[in-house]
Amino acid sequence: MKVMVLGAGVAGIATAYYLRQSGFDVTVLEPQLAAGRETCCVGCGMSGGVAPWVARSTVLQTMRGLLLRHGPPALRPGTGWQQYQWVWRLLRNCSAAGRAASRERLLRLTGYGQGCFAELCEAAGLDGAGGRCGMIRVFYDRQQLEMAVADMQRAVSNDLSCSLLLPDEIGRVEPALHGVRHRLAGALYWPGARSVDCCGFAGGLSTLARAAGVEFRFGSNIEQLPGEGDRVQGVRVNGALLRADHYVLALDERARALLDGLGIAVPMHRFRSHALAYDITDAAAAPHSTVFDSARGVTITRFGRRLRLHGMQELAGRRPDPQRRHALAMVADTLFPLAGDSRSGEFQAGLCHVTPDGVPVVGATAYANLTLNIAHGGSGCAVACGTSRYLADRLAGRTPEISGEGLDIFRYATC
Ligand SMILES: Cc1cc2nc3c(=O)[nH]c(=O)nc-3n(C[C@H](O)[C@H](O)[C@H](O)COP(=O)(O)OP(=O)(O)OC[C@H]3O[C@@H](n4cnc5c(N)ncnc54)[C@H](O)[C@@H]3O)c2cc1C
Repeated sequence: MKVMVLGAGVAGIATAYYLRQSGFDVTVLEPQLAAGRETCCVGCGMSGGVAPWVARSTVLQTMRGLLLRHGPPALRPGTGWQQYQWVWRLLRNCSAAGRAASRERLLRLTGYGQGCFAELCEAAGLDGAGGRCGMIRVFYDRQQLEMAVADMQRAVSNDLSCSLLLPDEIGRVEPALHGVRHRLAGALYWPGARSVDCCGFAGGLSTLARAAGVEFRFGSNIEQLPGEGDRVQGVRVNGALLRADHYVLALDERARALLDGLGIAVPMHRFRSHALAYDITDAAAAPHSTVFDSARGVTITRFGRRLRLHGMQELAGRRPDPQRRHALAMVADTLFPLAGDSRSGEFQAGLCHVTPDGVPVVGATAYANLTLNIAHGGSGCAVACGTSRYLADRLAGRTPEISGEGLDIFRYATC
């Protein structure tokens, strides 16, 4: 059976690899000239830690941040009415039942995705590139810490082993935070989380997929997905119609326009996310774990001799906002003041695509030969590895290792 995978981000490459492993004849179509160029190589690190959207504390924080200039993530007046529609849906999902459903789905995907991510790192020979370094989520505010602890206690059954650290215990796990412990209310710690440079991961995984027999057609910009009855007729690329038995859509926000043409409405919106990377000048003053600053929504990851901060998301266009550079540098200077010169860093912005419930859209559609694996901006690369494996199992007729309940596009049918 011939399958076309549309898009060569982490989701597209991992789907192609797993499908090929299951015996399918797989072609990947991608407009860029290499895999993973669009999002993965714009300052993205990847950690297999728990998705921050899981927490009630994060949803509340996000809503508060929508109104703040330097809060995560911010609204920008005048950048389109869709952002207000998206926020309306986010608010609607904030009922206790809505949050509980999203949390269960994300935890299901995160636990599974971590395992798949580790497996793919090993298969691609990338285990030495970052590896298991743990993840610490720091809190300045006692109330937020308590909310997050309650969220994590509900998640115990999902095997995401996590422990609470009081301020005096933080330095034992992450010595570089010892000097600022008096500012912190506490932290949550996931010892098993891994961090890998996302760009390197996408490159390594595409090499693995190619060696397994996946064909990559770069420079292929998908213009249209014509449909007839309950089937997609093909993929229009540079005016020509390419055909396969099945199509897996793993695109970014541009998926929306293509799916609109098929009458499928996906409520995902793009967030601009900022990244700042700079050289470490004092190795002992820089963290070994990945650190997530809960107040600002910023992740700090060490890759060799570089420290990378990412966050400061907003519902807006692609151009970096210079104000966000200062805000990221401020987070670095607060937590790791002696690690290096944050003002000298390289600053970038990239786009993430997020649904209002934070859960990616994964599974079948009303078209019998079209499957979706999209909107991973809120859950991250490790989850994309897990959803890819889940889809390959389904298409191969095997029983997937996780349930697909509430992951597909039909969950929005009643919204
Ligand atoms: C600055 C930044 C930092 C991040 N840091 C982290 C992190 O630390 N950890 C983490 O887990 N996640 C992080 N993320 C999120 C992560 O990058 C995304 O979750 C992930 O890249 C999503 O992968 P994807 O394959 O779904 O989408 P993408 O990587 O966006 O891939 C979609 C692909 O579709 C292609 N495409 C688009 N339109 C067409 C078309 N018409 N025809 C053909 N192909 C098309 C694009 O070129 C692209 O290659 C970060 C994101 C950003 C922007």
